[in-house]
Amino acid sequence: MSGQEFLEQSLAKTFLRRLAKKFATELEIETVGQLLRHFPRRYEERGELTPLDSLAEGEYVTVQAEILRAKIFETRARKKLMKVQVTDGRRTMSMTLFNAQPYWLKSWMVPGRRGYFTGKVNRYGKNLELLHPHTDFEDEPKEVKGGLIPIYPAASGLTSRKIQTAIEGVLALAPPLPEPLPDSVIEEFHLVPFHRALRLIHNPSSRADVEIARKRFKWEEAFLLQATFAQRRHQAQADPATPRPRRSGGLLEAFDQRCPFPLTEGQQEIGDLLAEELAQPHPMNRLLQGEVGSGKTVVALRAMLTVLDTGGQAAMLAPTEVLAYQHARSLRQLLGPLAGAGELGGAERATSVVVLTGSQSPAQRRKALAAIADGSAGIAVGTHALLEEGVQFRDLGLVVVDEQHRFGVEQRDTLRAKGANPHVLVLTATPIPRTVAITVFGDLEVSSLTELPAGRSPIDTRVVPVVDHPKWMARVWQRVREEVEAGHQVYIVCPLISADDKPGPENIQNDEKPKSRYAVLNLLPELEGGALFGLRLAALHGRMGADEKDAVMSAFARGQVDVLIATTVIEVGVDVANATGMVVLDADRFGISQLHQLRGRVGRGSAASICLLVTSEAAASPARRRLEAVASTADGFELAELDLAERREGDVLGTVQAGRKRSLRFLELRRDADLIRAARERAFRLVGSDPELHRHPVLAQALRFTLEEKAVYLEKA
Ligand code: ADP
Ligand code: MG
Repeated sequence: MSGQEFLEQSLAKTFLRRLAKKFATELEIETVGQLLRHFPRRYEERGELTPLDSLAEGEYVTVQAEILRAKIFETRARKKLMKVQVTDGRRTMSMTLFNAQPYWLKSWMVPGRRGYFTGKVNRYGKNLELLHPHTDFEDEPKEVKGGLIPIYPAASGLTSRKIQTAIEGVLALAPPLPEPLPDSVIEEFHLVPFHRALRLIHNPSSRADVEIARKRFKWEEAFLLQATFAQRRHQAQADPATPRPRRSGGLLEAFDQRCPFPLTEGQQEIGDLLAEELAQPHPMNRLLQGEVGSGKTVVALRAMLTVLDTGGQAAMLAPTEVLAYQHARSLRQLLGPLAGAGELGGAERATSVVVLTGSQSPAQRRKALAAIADGSAGIAVGTHALLEEGVQFRDLGLVVVDEQHRFGVEQRDTLRAKGANPHVLVLTATPIPRTVAITVFGDLEVSSLTELPAGRSPIDTRVVPVVDHPKWMARVWQRVREEVEAGHQVYIVCPLISADDKPGPENIQNDEKPKSRYAVLNLLPELEGGALFGLRLAALHGRMGADEKDAVMSAFARGQVDVLIATTVIEVGVDVANATGMVVLDADRFGISQLHQLRGRVGRGSAASICLLVTSEAAASPARRRLEAVASTADGFELAELDLAERREGDVLGTVQAGRKRSLRFLELRRDADLIRAARERAFRLVGSDPELHRHPVLAQALRFTLEEKAVYLEKA
């Protein structure tokens, strides 16, 4: 049997057949290869106890601990229960075993003895406990080679020990296993080959062994990811697309003549770059990042008009309905009569902008679909509804994705499939640290708009600590009133929609903290009848219908609402230049980048703006320090780096792009930045010289597998 065949074998066909079903259902492990890639979570020295305060409720764990005492109880139903107290030397934890037999006390649960206990961590009152754990004693004969004991992510019926034995058995039978990494990389970076790395990681004799293996798997992870990007890039270069060169005498020219402001240098330069790429016979794939308010919309619009001038259509994808309507509104406003096709007062060569969202009435939807299909709508703006089957464009030439971090690569592909390979422009206002950009958007070219349009005044951001100064809350509301009296408008952002709500995606809630006191639906009447009496208040949150939300946003944009009390639905893209005040309540519930985003809703006009971050966190807390950081700089890139340094890896990737969370097992974006860059360079070089990887069949196979695995994962999600 070849190494490849060995890895692809189903566990059911090996000596592990009896456990195959358990492995499949509990750990999603079906093949030998998958089992070998079930890596230890950590290692223990023989005799070293597991720190009990490291356990989390709900986790399946194997704990090495010392028995303090054990006792058998009889329940009212005459069942025998055994309570066992164990310790790590500092803390204690209890375990309950059912159907206890008196001889257990004598022969197993002897005080002072050390054992391995595997089970699910439950909460019992204030304490954690293991319920009926599987028990192994370390002084029972079990040969452990080397000095370290691997501890695997376990599951019901599959203890760490059982998994270890299974993996050892498989490794003992393995023929030479195929190597996905190219020799050149292995040599240059002194990596151990795959087969040896497996032995080291599953059966190390020292921590150094583990590190040697981890370095190799990090490389593998980075290299495979970058090779995938390199192939996608290569594929995109090879794919044909309709060239969309700039034409004179069209909509773009007409727009440039009526544009109310001069473009910034960056807007001009990136505009030219996009025009160049749109004129190519293969699809553009570009990410445009730029601070909130840097003017990405105009750049995108000019690219769309270039495409419209060649007879094509453009689609703009927004993450929420509010934003879809808002984009449509600002595009129409920028275009003026140029968007008035078929209307009285429309320009001669006008186009039209339609909206398509999930919650439109059937009639609205039919109308929008027809305009998209017959091409009379040059620009279609929508949410994921634009991705649905049944949406047919006449000639889709460009897809603009706003705020990419809410859309995955796969959605981009779906949309791409609706046109003959349309050009793709992704916009993001979340400044992305370079390492994250190449890890998550490695198949895109990246441009940045770094300057803000002239005439913006900076936002004065302040932390308002209401614990230390309870009276400051009154001052906050007075400040809101002053903004309104000066003719401006204010946003008030709450973590919750309603006070009785459970935390949800829009209801920001941090488990470690008591529930926020601030909820849109409760605060509105409170302020209306109190501190903000006499002002025109309105609520905006995700539970409102699309029409309702749009009506509120339009009223706010027209200045008919003074104060908008909202959840984070206003986070991205909302653009009302007259809004000069923002109050974020319980601001410590929000992430650094999120606060920066929120703050970007103000400071869009020439008037001075203020952003108040209200918190009841104590002065020395980490949460307070984060808020102070946001208050101290307006540089989104700096804040993004800080965010990356502060948060857990998965959270960062999760925000940037949903659905990729699981893919990084070894890499840490912060620590491994150099490695990731080096891997990218080598992977692109390799794919450049051998695009189909004919000379690297094992790598090619591994990449196909990565893609399949991801597809399965997405189906499940
Ligand atoms: P974002 O990059 O956050 O999407 P927008 O495209 O919404 O920013 O632009 C923010 C505001 O700045 C809009 O009102 C837009 O019309 C305006 N704007 C864009 N470019 C310029 C410019 N070059 N000069 C002045 N105002 C501009
Ligand atoms: Mg925008």
